[in-house]
Amino acid sequence: MSKYVFITGGVVSSLGKGITAGSIGALLKKRGLKVSILKIDPYLNVDAGTMNPFQHGEVFVTDDGAETDLDLGHYERFIDETLSEKNSITTGKIYSSVIKKERRGDYLGGTVQVIPHITNDIQERIIRAGSGLDVLIVEIGGTVGDIEGQPFLEAIRQMAVRAGRGNVVYCHVTLIPYLEAAKELKTKPTQHSVQELRRIGILPNMLVCRTSHPMDQGMKNKIALFCDVPPEAVIEVRDEPTIYNVPISLHREGLDALILKQLGLPYDNEPDLSDWARVVDRYLNPPEEVKIALVGKYVQHKDAYLSVVEALHHGGISHNVRVNIVSVEAEDLEGSDPAEILRFADGILIPGGFGERGVEGMIAAAKYARENDVPILGICLGMQMMVVEFARNVCRLHEAHSKEMNPATIHPVIHLMEEQENLRDLGGTMRLGAYPCDLTEGTKSAEAYGTLHITERHRHRYEFNNAYRERLENAGLKVAGVCTERDLVEIVELPGHKWYVGGQFHGELKSRPVRPHPLFDGFIKAAADYMRNKQ
Ligand code: GLN
Repeated sequence: MSKYVFITGGVVSSLGKGITAGSIGALLKKRGLKVSILKIDPYLNVDAGTMNPFQHGEVFVTDDGAETDLDLGHYERFIDETLSEKNSITTGKIYSSVIKKERRGDYLGGTVQVIPHITNDIQERIIRAGSGLDVLIVEIGGTVGDIEGQPFLEAIRQMAVRAGRGNVVYCHVTLIPYLEAAKELKTKPTQHSVQELRRIGILPNMLVCRTSHPMDQGMKNKIALFCDVPPEAVIEVRDEPTIYNVPISLHREGLDALILKQLGLPYDNEPDLSDWARVVDRYLNPPEEVKIALVGKYVQHKDAYLSVVEALHHGGISHNVRVNIVSVEAEDLEGSDPAEILRFADGILIPGGFGERGVEGMIAAAKYARENDVPILGICLGMQMMVVEFARNVCRLHEAHSKEMNPATIHPVIHLMEEQENLRDLGGTMRLGAYPCDLTEGTKSAEAYGTLHITERHRHRYEFNNAYRERLENAGLKVAGVCTERDLVEIVELPGHKWYVGGQFHGELKSRPVRPHPLFDGFIKAAADYMRNKQ
C-alpha cells in the first residue's frame, strides 16, 4: 500500500491548496519517490464536464477522457505525470456508484449508510489511486466545516487506521489574516479551523499558513501551542510572484523533509530544484515582452483559460520573453474595427468555448490576423472559427448558399458528423480525451513537434467537415494534421503566413513549465519575432 499525504483547507477557500499539493508532489518526486495526486471535490456533480466556466473555471481533460477539476492541471504541470479518471473523485461519483450497487443488491439487504458505505467507497478509491506508488497526495476540496466535506474527512480519518498512523500525514492549509487596523496577523481563525478538524478526529501534523506578512517565531510558537503541532511544523507561505516558486519556498521552509520524516522515509538527500529555479528566473526576469491578445468569451473569469494562460507563459519561459496576456472580449470585436482593438498584439490566441456567443468576434480576430500576417493560434473553437473565416472570406463559401447548412453550427465547414447527430438527444456526443494524429511533413506544426506522430487531448462536438476539405485546400489552407483513427482534420495552417495554426485539440493541457507545448512554443517564438521586427 502507498503512503498518503492528506491536504485539507481551513478558514477560507482559494488558499492555493492545489498549488500546495502540486508543489509537495514536485518535491517528493525530486526526492526520487513515485508520486501522484488525487483531487476530491465535495460537490454533487459527477464530474466537472457540465460545469460552466464562468462558475468553476476551466474543465481539465485527461488522456482517458475524464472531465475534471482544473487542479488536475496544476498537478500535471507540477509533478510532470499524466493523470487519469481515477485521480478525480466527487460526491456525485461516489453516491452514483454506491446507489448503483444498492440497486444491484450488492449490499445483501443491509441498510446503506454514509458510514460505512460511502466512506468505504471513498477509501477504496483512494487506495486504488495510490496503488503502485510510494506516496499519494490527496487534496480535499472545500473548507473544513463544510457539510458536504464531512464524509471525506471521516474517510481520511479512517485511512490512518487502515494504512497505519506512520503512513499518513495530515497537512492543513490555513490563512493567517493581517488586520490593517490592528497592524497585526491574527491566529484565531486558524485555531478554530484546527479545532474543527480535531472534532472529527483528525490531528494535523503540519500547518501551511498563507499570510501576506512575515510571521515571527513567537507567532509560530503560539500557533504550535494552540494547534498541537511542533513549532517547525508551522510553515509560512507568503504570496509568491509566481506559483512556480512555491516548491522552492516550501522546501526552504522544510515542508518536504517534515513529510518524509513523518512517513518514515529518508529525508537527507537534498532534492535538485535547479530546473524550478531556472523556470522562476526566466519567468520573472526576461529582457523583452510580447503582448498576446486572448480573444475569448469567458475572459471575465480568471480561471476559465487557466491552462492556456500557463501554456503561453511556458512558451515565454522557453524563449526568454515575458508574455503579457491581454484579455479581449470576443463580443467587443463584433461591429467595431478589429484593428483598433487588436493593433497592440504581437500574437492572437483564440481559445476553446461553447455556444454561439462571441463567435463572430473570434472570426473577426482570425481575419485580422490572416490579413495582417500577425501570429495566431486557434484552439478548438478557435481553430473552427479560423476555418469558418477562411471559408467565408477566401473561398467565398457563404453559408446561405449551402444546402448542407447545419442549424447547430454557424457554417457547414464545421459540422456534427452523422454518427453524432444520431446521438444528439443522448448528450453523449463529445469527442473526449487523447487521440493520435499524423502530421504533414514540411508544415510548421511538424517542425514545432519535431515528429510526425503525436497524441493530443480533445473536448468538442463539432468537427472539420471533410466535404469541404478539397475546396479549402485548393484555396490555400493546409491540412497539417489528421486523426489517424478517424480521418478527421486536426490542424490547419496557412503556408507563407508568419504563424497561422489552428488545432482542434487542447494542446495547453499537456504543456509543462519545463517542456512547453510545441504549438505554444512556436506561437510565442513567432510573436517574439513579430515584436522585434515591429520595433
Ligand atoms: N463548441 C465547439 C465544439 O463543441 C468547440 C469546443 C471547444 O472549444 N472545446 O466543437
